[in-house]
Amino acid sequence: MGKADLHIHTRASDGSCDSEEILRLAVEKGISTISITDHDTIGGYLKARKAAENLPVTLIPGVEFTALHSGKEIHVLAYNFNPDDPGLKHLLGKQKLARLDRMEKILGFLRKNEGIDLTLDEIKGQAGSNNVGRPHIAQILVKKKIVASVAEAFIRYLGTPLIEKIDVGYRCIEEIADVVGEAGGATILAHPGPLYNPDEMQELIDAGLDGLECIHPSHSFDQQKRFTELAARQHLLVTGGSDFHGTGREYDPYFGIVTLSDKRVKDLERITENRKKLKMNIGS
Ligand code: AMP
Ligand code: FE
Ligand code: FE
Ligand code: ZN
Repeated sequence: MGKADLHIHTRASDGSCDSEEILRLAVEKGISTISITDHDTIGGYLKARKAAENLPVTLIPGVEFTALHSGKEIHVLAYNFNPDDPGLKHLLGKQKLARLDRMEKILGFLRKNEGIDLTLDEIKGQAGSNNVGRPHIAQILVKKKIVASVAEAFIRYLGTPLIEKIDVGYRCIEEIADVVGEAGGATILAHPGPLYNPDEMQELIDAGLDGLECIHPSHSFDQQKRFTELAARQHLLVTGGSDFHGTGREYDPYFGIVTLSDKRVKDLERITENRKKLKMNIGS
């Protein structure tokens, strides 16, 4: 039975490895199926697609969307969509603008309230692209010795309620689930962990999600069991992965360790293949 990792970040968002490096490491660790799920971009996946052709690893399309639900930011994974779908491309474009706008607001907040003066260009330089996020601010704060670690940056400056309340243009879960479904893909609630109470979980599932990320390094064994049982009761897909962000970064030790069985990947593929067939039949 092969093992899969359906949650991996690259340099296209806040990871430190490029796509080719991820593929090489996956082969080395004997992972048979991976998905590159960068935050709000499929750039890392597209880059890996060509390189994966001649390797003994299957790459499935993926992305980790930042969604809004009742004013809260929620991570939603999407898989096996058609990457050329115009609706999906449009949605990714909107998320990219929302991300940049949010970054300008966070930088404004830090300047005004914390006396920390960083420019958007500095953040883009750290990210190596326009796909900026809070980890890139954290990395600069470490370099400037304003904090000792990325974790401290989040505790002191970036994970505070005031920052999390900043008004952002991310799209809602319903819209994301709808667009991904139209593109033949499936949407999954990422790492629910301790984030939601049972009513909130149900509300999120009812917003149109196809599954739950039950296997994640932040989950206790009990959480993994409870989410897997909930998924079985409600006929939802079960996914999982390491959330690897690169060597020395978040969840580093779990790459190749926290994995999903291939059977779960087959379940996911069955749903998305049916969805694509249904769309073709409707279209013809
Ligand atoms: P953003 O995309 O700007 O919302 O940043 C979210 C990302 O920051 C997450 O995907 C994690 O990679 C990272 N992150 C969130 N909280 C922490 C934390 N406490 N310590 C380190 N990294 C974090
Ligand atoms: Fe991240
Ligand atoms: Fe996440
Ligand atoms: Zn992630």
